[in-house]
Amino acid sequence: MQKASSRHYSIEYFPPRTEEGEAKLDLAHKRLSSLGPEFFSVTYGAGGTTKKGTRKLVLKYIEAGSDVAPHLSFGGASDSEVLKLLNTYKDAGVSKLVALRGDAPSGFGGKMHHRYANELVEFVRQQTGDHFEIYVACYPEVHPDASSYAEDVAYFKQKVDAGANAAITQYFYNADAYFRFVDYCQSQGIDIPIIPGIMPISNFSNLARFSGKCGAEIPQWLSRRLQGFSEDGGADMRKFGLDVVTELCERLLSGGAPGLHFYSMNTSKTVSQIWNNLSLSEPA
Ligand code: FAD
Repeated sequence: MQKASSRHYSIEYFPPRTEEGEAKLDLAHKRLSSLGPEFFSVTYGAGGTTKKGTRKLVLKYIEAGSDVAPHLSFGGASDSEVLKLLNTYKDAGVSKLVALRGDAPSGFGGKMHHRYANELVEFVRQQTGDHFEIYVACYPEVHPDASSYAEDVAYFKQKVDAGANAAITQYFYNADAYFRFVDYCQSQGIDIPIIPGIMPISNFSNLARFSGKCGAEIPQWLSRRLQGFSEDGGADMRKFGLDVVTELCERLLSGGAPGLHFYSMNTSKTVSQIWNNLSLSEPA
C-alpha cells in the first residue's frame, strides 16, 4: 500500500458561465485551497465560450499561486491552435494537463471531428517534450462508446504508451469495479497511477441524468435509497451522501488507491467535509 504522503489529491472545477458563478467559485477556491490539494483542474468544453473560459480561469488561478491543470482536447481546433494554447499555458507556468478526446459540447453546433486522446498525448509530447505532466481519463465501468472492456483498456494503454503520466477515472460508487479495473490494467502492462475520480452526492436527479450519459453506474441500493429523499435532497440526503462517499474513499485508500480526484461541481462544502472526514490535510 502506498503512503499517504505519496498520494495525489486534486480538485476539479468547470469554467463558470456568469459573473455570479465566477464570484462563487472564487470563494469556493479560497476555501478549497486551504485544504492543500496537489492541484486543481479545469474542464474544457472544446467550443466557444467554455474554451475561452477554461483558459481564463486557469491563468487567473495560476497567477494567484495555485497549481492548475487545464483539461484539453482537440475538439474541432487545428494543430496550430492547440499548439498556441499549449505555449500560452507553458509560458504561464502550467506544468500539468488533462488530455482528453472530449465530448461534443453544447455551443459547438454538433460539429466536431473526434480525435482520440492518445493522438493528443502524442501531439503534446512531440511539441513540448517532457514539459507537461499528462493525465488522461479511464473508465472502471467501461467508456460508453467502447465495444468491450478489453478494447477500452487496450485504448487506455495507447494513451499510456504515448506518454501519459497518470490517469483519473470516471466516477463510480462500486469500489470493486475500481480494484478489478486496476488489476486488469496492471495485467495489461499499464503501470501509471490510476486515481479514482470521486463525485460527491448532492442532488439525485442531476446525478442520475449525468450518470446515464457518461456510463457511470449508480448501484440499485444507492439509487433506491436516494430516491427516498425529497427532490432537493435536504440535510438528510446530504448527510447520507456524505457518509456513502466518505466510506467509498476510505475503502479506496485502504485498498491502495494512489490518491483521489474530487469533482467539486464548483462548490466547496461537500468536498471539504469529505476531505476533513478523511483527514487528508494532516501530515502522513
Ligand atoms: P479516448 O481515450 O479517446 O476514448 C474515447 C472512446 O474511444 C473510448 O470508448 C475508447 O475505448 C475509444 N477509443 C480510444 N482510442 C481509440 C482508437 N484509437 N480507435 C478506436 N477507438 C478508440 N469531457 C469534456 O468534454 N471536457 C472535459 O474537461 C472532460 N474532463 C474529463 C475528466 C475526466 C477525469 C474524465 C474521466 C472524463 C472527462 N471528460 C471531459 C469526458 C470525456 O471527454 C469523455 O468521456 C469522452 O467521451 C472520452 O474522452 P477520453 O479522453 O477518455 O477519450
